[in-house]
Amino acid sequence: SKAKLFDEKTDTRTSFKDVAGLEGAKEEVEEIVEFLKNPDKYTSLGGKIPKGALLVGPPGTGKTLLAKAVAGEAKVPFFSLSGSDFVEMFVGVGASRVRDLFKQAKDKAPAIIFIDEIDAIGRARGKNNMTGSNDERENTLNQLLTEMDGFGTNTNVIVLAATNRADVLDKALMRAGRFDRQIYVDLPDVRERKEIFEVHLRPIKTAETLDMEFLARQTPGFSGADIANVCNEAALIAARKERKAVTKQDFLDAVDRIVGGLEKKNKIIT
Ligand code: ATP
Repeated sequence: SKAKLFDEKTDTRTSFKDVAGLEGAKEEVEEIVEFLKNPDKYTSLGGKIPKGALLVGPPGTGKTLLAKAVAGEAKVPFFSLSGSDFVEMFVGVGASRVRDLFKQAKDKAPAIIFIDEIDAIGRARGKNNMTGSNDERENTLNQLLTEMDGFGTNTNVIVLAATNRADVLDKALMRAGRFDRQIYVDLPDVRERKEIFEVHLRPIKTAETLDMEFLARQTPGFSGADIANVCNEAALIAARKERKAVTKQDFLDAVDRIVGGLEKKNKIIT
């Protein structure tokens, strides 16, 4: 399949209001929004706009959401690709997909390219290569490096990439002029979890004024994605019970269910 192009007509724009917590990360990407909106202002004194930034953090913490919000705030198209799409791809396909993606983005510039799970293509070269089957991945990685180096300073395409394994990435990716900025996106603390609940409770009909502080304290270790899941699950539980609105108990039941799911996941891993 082709690289997905953000469709302004059918997608509602993601904005920073949709991203709860993550103050530090938001501040850093705000600068990227500025670069996209006002490139001339920043290059007028001879400075070069960064070409890429790496969003680093555990699964479900809002890396994709943040990248979409950057595109939404800057009002530029969002092109995305997932590293895992490249696993088991045929020879030559990965590199040409990357070339294609960059061409599309440059044609529509200013634009954001988002590469999720970049570790799937960006692992250090020459490792885990016992079978010699990693050539395709290396070709894809080399193409990505070539594309980033080939950008002029005024191309105005910024590449955001996400990973939860920055330690395994090929150092060549982090060199100056490539992903030379790292932005940390951590699991939310109790105050941030409260803010995430506030965002995801917006569309939900609740029966009482919910104590979000209480919900935040019930969910240590939950990611933003887990909290979104709790809110959705609570609404489904309430609907199943034919309630008119979602109660605190529905939320607690949903938390239990998600905790159960997380425990199972961890059991499989260990
Ligand atoms: P992965 O590494 O698994 O790809 P990710 O860090 O890219 O995860 P997202 O896909 O951005 O995580 O998050 C999934 C969903 O979880 C979001 O669409 C959103 O509904 C919710 N979510 C995650 N983090 C936040 C947050 N900080 N504020 C609000 N919602 C959040």
